[in-house]
Amino acid sequence: MKIPKIIIAIDGHSSTGKSSFAKIIAAKYGLIYVDTGALYRGVTLYAIRKKLIDSCNKIDTEALDKAYDFINLEFRTNACDGRSELYLNGELIEREVRGLEVSGKVSFIAALPHVREFVDKILRMYGERKGVVMDGRDIGTVVFPNAELKIFMTADAGVRAARRYKELIEKGENANYEDVLQNIVQRDFLDENREAAPLRRAEDAIILDNSKMSIDEQIVWFDKIVSQRWN
Ligand code: C5P
Repeated sequence: MKIPKIIIAIDGHSSTGKSSFAKIIAAKYGLIYVDTGALYRGVTLYAIRKKLIDSCNKIDTEALDKAYDFINLEFRTNACDGRSELYLNGELIEREVRGLEVSGKVSFIAALPHVREFVDKILRMYGERKGVVMDGRDIGTVVFPNAELKIFMTADAGVRAARRYKELIEKGENANYEDVLQNIVQRDFLDENREAAPLRRAEDAIILDNSKMSIDEQIVWFDKIVSQRWN
């Protein structure tokens, strides 16, 4: 089965497995995968390192506004396993941006309109290439409202927390289930209630609730959509 060179927008709640799903689809159908949340995480890591966000999540927006020219975020392909990894000013930051410190602050940084403009510019550059799968919060509503296929992913918050907790423990991180759940609930709230590009389901997005679905079942679900639309 083949997909024409289109944009597939995958939005949805935190920790619904959007990126795992998007990566598999991209590999299977020969599309480029762009993890848009990673870019917000990259800006957040920069802000943490430069002390532009404090422990109460207060942000020095004036200083951050002057910093964009010094933040170079790019995805590079790992030569060994083909994975796409994020670099900040030439430094590999893939692992650090997934940790709890960045996860706890990223939704505050992502709520700033200037940060969104900065990230959107990078995303639109990728979009020009077509044949891309992007996952995020506002891809089908704001960044690419004309995306040919939109999917909105969601799942029960407890199920999401359990999956994320397991992932962190397997990676050797020092995680606590209650903290993980709280982070997910807080991020949902901040993402849905911010003024700039809040998390919403685009009217033409197809809902995928994967609370009770394995990743294989989700791919079968996706293949069906492809075969109905393009074969
Ligand atoms: O997808 P991920 O959980 O890595 O995204 C991290 C955070 O970045 C989200 O919680 C959300 O606040 C923000 N984000 C966003 N818009 C996107 C992608 C992510 O606001 N398109």
